[in-house]
Amino acid sequence: MNSQLGFKLKILWYFLQYTLRGTFRNRAKLERFQQRKWRKFRRKVLTRSPFYQQLADAHAALGEFPTINKAGFMANFDAINTLGLKQSEAMQVALQAEIARDFSTELKGATVGLSTGTSGTRGLFLVSPTERAQWTGMVLRRVVPLRLFKKQRVAFFLRANSNLYSSVQSASLEFRFFDIFQPIEQLIQALEVFQPHILAAQPSVLGAIAEAQLAKQINIKPQLVISFAEVLNPEDKAFIQKNFSAPLREVYQCTEGFLGVTCAHGTMHLNEDIAIFEKKYLDETRFIPIITDFTRSSQPIIRYELNDILVEKPEPCPCGSCFTALERIEGREDDVLIFPGSNGEMVKVFPDLICRVIARSTDGFRAYRLRQVGALELQLELETEDFQDVASIISNALHVFLQEKGIKGLIIQCKQEIDRKAGEKLRRVEQKIVSK
Ligand SMILES: [Zn+2]
Repeated sequence: MNSQLGFKLKILWYFLQYTLRGTFRNRAKLERFQQRKWRKFRRKVLTRSPFYQQLADAHAALGEFPTINKAGFMANFDAINTLGLKQSEAMQVALQAEIARDFSTELKGATVGLSTGTSGTRGLFLVSPTERAQWTGMVLRRVVPLRLFKKQRVAFFLRANSNLYSSVQSASLEFRFFDIFQPIEQLIQALEVFQPHILAAQPSVLGAIAEAQLAKQINIKPQLVISFAEVLNPEDKAFIQKNFSAPLREVYQCTEGFLGVTCAHGTMHLNEDIAIFEKKYLDETRFIPIITDFTRSSQPIIRYELNDILVEKPEPCPCGSCFTALERIEGREDDVLIFPGSNGEMVKVFPDLICRVIARSTDGFRAYRLRQVGALELQLELETEDFQDVASIISNALHVFLQEKGIKGLIIQCKQEIDRKAGEKLRRVEQKIVSK
């Protein structure tokens, strides 16, 4: 059997598996399902990982395995992966692929991706063809509505590592990969020619496409818009929806996996049938997810602590799914702002709260970025025509909000225009203080 055909059959196999699985409506049943998956994963995969082998052989419960963060994950790369790959050789292949923009080189049957990550440490991710097929099957099943007799064109905007995504070309779907490191004007022209039925991109790119549509530079009529990879905030969501009369689905996806997707009611649900999400609570509803993914066998992801802050929805979703429902994804734990309070204590301010203050104060801007650069210094970069007015409205609102929290003596510096590099994720609130 040729490998292309084998690959497509695998996608189909996983697609059917996820279809047959249906919707979990019962939490106890889901937890039993997860435990079965976990035991199988421990036996089949973790016994082949030098890092986890001992615990796996001893049938240790998940809670006995160590939690790991990105830095620990990279420091133990050689021992964690099940392919016997060394970090130095994988890094070399990944860097070469980035430079040549050719991601087809395989090492022991796996492609190597580099996560450029914003948190400092560079991550290396291994993906085998089977994992790729599984990922595709899941995404197709959960995100893309299939129409059997009509070919659908899917435009996928991505940074780097095309391999994972550009692999699907079948009777019912045609995937086109748009590299977001190319100038956006060129990409938009190519998109106009392609005329996608489904448009999938990160929010900042969707925003740029919506702007081009508004300015009548292009005229596309997608039937579905998919937002993934970054947090989609309410202003961007409204702007995108205003310019395309198509439903908008959000995918919560990062190098660490396919983590969640919105249901028909617009609620983001965690994919708890492919991963266990332990919750490290920050308050009653906010938590940091710690994930154990059953779909990653080249490089097992076990009790991996993500950098994101998620907010749980208190009431169940009307769709009936028992997968954890999220109110929203707030952003990165790294970006929590910390200020000295009036009594010498440290005051934490979640990025999402700052975004709400800004959104409430005015809508006279297209984009902004707020950075904490010193203990009592914020930098506000704004894209707007009435820079002076908008900047003073927003800084006043922030001063009032932060003073209520006991933070005084704050300096807010405003700057017109955002320094944006091509392909860079726009983080609205950033903590830039280097702690030493
Ligand atoms: Zn739902």
